[in-house]
Amino acid sequence: RAKQEGRNGFQFYAQDMNRTSLGDLLLENQLRGAIERGELELHYQPKVCAQSGQLESAEALLRWRHPELGLIAPGRFIPVAEESGLIVVIGEWVIRETCRQLAAWSEAGLNPVPIAVNLSAQQLCQPELTTQVAQALAKSGVSANLLEFELTETMLMRDIDRSLSTLGHLREMGVSLAIDDFGTGYSSLSYLQQFQVQVLKIDRSFVNDIRVRGADGKIAAAIIALAHSLGIKVVAEGVETEAQHRFLTRHGCDLLQGYLFSRPQPAASFAQQLATQHSGARLLSTSIP
Ligand code: C2E
Ligand code: MG
Ligand code: MG
Ligand code: MG
Repeated sequence: RAKQEGRNGFQFYAQDMNRTSLGDLLLENQLRGAIERGELELHYQPKVCAQSGQLESAEALLRWRHPELGLIAPGRFIPVAEESGLIVVIGEWVIRETCRQLAAWSEAGLNPVPIAVNLSAQQLCQPELTTQVAQALAKSGVSANLLEFELTETMLMRDIDRSLSTLGHLREMGVSLAIDDFGTGYSSLSYLQQFQVQVLKIDRSFVNDIRVRGADGKIAAAIIALAHSLGIKVVAEGVETEAQHRFLTRHGCDLLQGYLFSRPQPAASFAQQLATQHSGARLLSTSIP
């Protein structure tokens, strides 16, 4: 739409001004074509084994390298992409790019770890999602067990029947599934098993509750116990302190992710971590009491 309006496209949007800010509209216009111009990139944040500190897997996090504004975080442009529907093509690119990158690392002789991709609600609603995933895997030759999807509770509960069927197809393909930001959304525990997820990610806010004294963190501990009783693995996101690291490890959390271990990083520096992983290096050398 906006393209046809050309440079005077602002006028066209004037009546929408109350709903969406001018900044968002500019961003939306520039986001169209960002894929073709090669401005989107994925950064990778390690998840480490709580017991051994070794790199186990990673999460792909989208960034937009804007020619004037520099690197833009997803919190700034994903809402714009969601509202405009652009998230569907962007999300498809993220899946393809992750598979392409996994294949490239394999070809370079690195032994890649599984990579998790965040899905948006609109992608989950698309009937083509499973075909897109199958094609991305086939084209890259990447094994399905190297791919994981992160979905939120609210997303899954929006249309339970459809979610169950889509997740069932993805599981059959061998892709694993995780619930992101667990504990913040609206969900029903009785569906946890039905959704066939392998992983729960404790939301950062509950990890943040764990203070030096270790008296807090009751919700994190409860989520770990709940997940384990259902045979589900647990990842803690947003681990920033040693106290959180110790608390989570003591309570049996399986994987840890956060600035304490590593920030999300560009593909090239993540590849270096993959390379050192072969020598059994730990991301954090401190020992766990
Ligand atoms: P998320 O999936 O819950 O990702 C975790 C966010 O926490 C990331 O922010 C990550 O950089 C940040 N983080 C990791 N460790 C720490 C820590 O120790 N402390 C703090 N303060 N933050 C930490 P980021 O990269 O800005 O992404 C924000 C959100 O954007 C993601 O939340 C996810 O919901 C969404 N997102 C990112 N990439 C994609 C994508 O490819 N597709 C879709 N649909 N959403 C995406
Ligand atoms: Mg995530
Ligand atoms: Mg999360
Ligand atoms: Mg989050």
